[in-house]
Amino acid sequence: MDSMKQYIEDAEKSLLHTYNRYQVVLDKGDGMYLYDINGKKYLDFCAGIAVFALGYNNKKYNDALKNQIDKLIHTSNYYYNVPAITAAQKLKKASGMDRVFFTNSGAEAVEGAIKTARKYGYLKDGKTDHEIIAMEHSFHGRTMGALSVTGNPKYREAFGPMIGNIRFAKMNDFESVLSKVTDKTCAILFETVQGEGGIFPAEEGFLKQVKSLCQEKDILLILDEIQCGMGRCGSMFAWQRYGVKPDIMTSAKALGCGVPVGAFLLTEKVGQNSLTSGDHGTTYGGNPLAAAAINIVLDLFEENHIIDNVKEAGAYLEGALDMLTEEYDCIDTRRGMGLMQGLVFNMPVGDIIASALDKGLILINAGPDIIRFVPPLIVTKAHIDEMLSILKTCLDETV
Ligand SMILES: *Cc1c(COP(=O)(O)O)cnc(C)c1O
Repeated sequence: MDSMKQYIEDAEKSLLHTYNRYQVVLDKGDGMYLYDINGKKYLDFCAGIAVFALGYNNKKYNDALKNQIDKLIHTSNYYYNVPAITAAQKLKKASGMDRVFFTNSGAEAVEGAIKTARKYGYLKDGKTDHEIIAMEHSFHGRTMGALSVTGNPKYREAFGPMIGNIRFAKMNDFESVLSKVTDKTCAILFETVQGEGGIFPAEEGFLKQVKSLCQEKDILLILDEIQCGMGRCGSMFAWQRYGVKPDIMTSAKALGCGVPVGAFLLTEKVGQNSLTSGDHGTTYGGNPLAAAAINIVLDLFEENHIIDNVKEAGAYLEGALDMLTEEYDCIDTRRGMGLMQGLVFNMPVGDIIASALDKGLILINAGPDIIRFVPPLIVTKAHIDEMLSILKTCLDETV
């Protein structure tokens, strides 16, 4: 038996089987490419699910982490550390938000956002029965709070009861949101561009109507920018393209480009009227190593003009995917913004993705019928052409 098969067999004997993994053991990466343990090369349009924005094996990124490892990895949040202070400052500057809490993951950032919203409501009226409106088809993570606001009944079913007082509305349907508002509503939460649920960007009108509803009723607008943020949609955070600022924002995934980090950010008003000392904590969140990752990521975004590249490559990818949509009857439409795109098929896409992997192209789905394109943000037109040529071969063979 070859060693790849052996590793996979070993994995299936030891790891909890919560993923149907592709039959490949990855070993290393360089730029836009990944290599498996047999040295086979893959063009990567997944980026570890919208994580590795800067591409693999970026020397400056790696060196910054190595330097920090040799200096100090962890202290606990009882003490200050310089990387966390500068990371918070840079993140404030990039987002225009005022207060930062660092977490270890996206789900944990969502948990913090939920607690913040509930505390904000509690400080207003002393009650503990506030409601949060979330969206159908949303995804916010797998911990109990984040799962409770995730609009996919399949993910929630076996794990009830969820946290209480969550009401689901339809994304991009303002009337549906309005019909869920009560005097207990403390927050409205959604992804600026829905990711796992099928790449649905918020419509500008919807976002603006929800924002003014929130202002009118003193409800907090929480935007989950974990997948769509960090430059992926052509601005540092996707909401910046709409000019609609949230009261609370979550970030993770590309924020650390591989080091597990997340954050929730608040406006000053929410910061002053919600969580206070003793209300929330984390052992690792914002530790020097995690913060060093955020610092170097934000520096390299500027230095390498990442967002300019997203605009250019994103427009090219959009055009190319639109052409594919015209060309193939099995594709219904394209949806997305910048380098977060989905091709909506009228059939399951599992076989196409498997065939692409076989031919050295890594793609992922977003639901059974959608191929999702979330490449590293350093992708070029040449990489997009290379991806298209493999994908077309797969389509010609499979459909
Ligand atoms: C991935 C994701 C999360 C959860 O992040 P984890 O780091 O996996 O906990 C939450 N919200 C959105 C929009 C995501 O894409």
